[in-house]
Amino acid sequence: MKTEKIAILGHPIKHSLSPKMHNYWLKELRINGKYEAIKTSVRNLGKTIKKLNRHGYKGVNLTIPLKEKALKYLDRKDRLVNITGAANVLIFSKQGQIEGKNTDVYGFKKSLINLVKNKKRETAIVIGGGGAARAVLCVLIQMKYKKIILCNRTRKKAELVKRNFIEKFSSNLKTHIICKNLKDIKENVKEASLLVNTTPMGMKKFPSLNIDIKDLKTNSTVFDLIYNPLETKLIKESKKNGIKNTNGLDMLMYQAQKSFYYWLNKTPRVTNKLKKILEKEIK
Ligand code: NAP
Repeated sequence: MKTEKIAILGHPIKHSLSPKMHNYWLKELRINGKYEAIKTSVRNLGKTIKKLNRHGYKGVNLTIPLKEKALKYLDRKDRLVNITGAANVLIFSKQGQIEGKNTDVYGFKKSLINLVKNKKRETAIVIGGGGAARAVLCVLIQMKYKKIILCNRTRKKAELVKRNFIEKFSSNLKTHIICKNLKDIKENVKEASLLVNTTPMGMKKFPSLNIDIKDLKTNSTVFDLIYNPLETKLIKESKKNGIKNTNGLDMLMYQAQKSFYYWLNKTPRVTNKLKKILEKEIK
C-alpha cells in the first residue's frame, strides 16, 4: 500500500505543531501517510526540495524565512504567492513540477471572519511588515477595510509593502494604506476597530508589544498571530479590557487544513478536540 509522504521544512523545526495536526488528520481520514519535520536551512532548501520531490513526496510546508526563499524553485505560483511574496505550501506534481501556494491568507481570513461579522470595516492597525503582514493585508483589502495603518519597526519596509500592493492591485486597491513607525502607533489606536499583531513580539525570547489598547474603538477586535504562548501580553490586556480577541492557533489550523487539501484532495476537520490537543502541546 502506498504511503503518502509530506513534510515541514525549517530551522528550528523541533517544536512545530504541524506534524501533530497533519498526522492526526491522516489517521482520522484513514490515509496511509506520514508528515515529518525536516530540519532545513536556507542553504539546503533547494537541494532538500528537489530530493523530496524526486522521492515521491506530495509536497511540503515551509516556515520563516523559507516561505520567501523558496520562490526561486517554483515552476508555478498562484496569485496569492505573487502578492504576498511567500509560499507556505509547495505541491509536487506527478511530473515533478513544483507549485507554490499561500494558505496563510486563507487561515487568517477563516479565523477573522466570524470575529468581525456585522462590524463596520473602517480602520485596522496591522503591526509588522513581513510575509505574515502581507497575508493579513490581502485579507483586509478583500474584506474592504477602508483604511489600514501599517506599523513596522522599520518604516521603510512597510512603505515597500505598500508600494508592492499598489502595483499588484493597481486601480482595484480601494483601501487607503498609511505607513508608520511602530513607536508612533499610539496616536492612531483610537481610530481603529481591529488591531493585528504579525510580528514575533510577545513570543518567548522576544519583548512584548507595549500598546495601550484601551483606546481602541468600542467593540474592537484584537488578533495576535502568535500562538506560543497561547496568551501573550496583548491577549491578556485584551481580555482585561473586555476586547474580543484571538491568538493565532485557529489561523494555524486553517492554513494547515487548506494545505492538506492541496496535497490530498480531502478537507480535514478543524475541531475543538484538535485545538485542545494542540493547546496541550503548547502548555
Ligand atoms: P518576517 O517576514 O520575518 O517578519 C517579521 C516582522 O516582525 C518584521 O516586520 C519585523 O520588523 C518585525 N519584528 C521582528 N522582531 C521584532 C522586534 N523585536 N520588534 C519589533 N518588530 C519586530 O516573519 P513573518 O512571516 O511575517 O511572521 C511573523 C510572525 O507571524 C511570526 O511570529 C510567525 O510565527 C507568525 N505567523 C503565524 C501564523 C499562524 O498561522 N498563526 C502564520 C504566519 C506567521 P522589521 O521589518 O523591522 O525587521
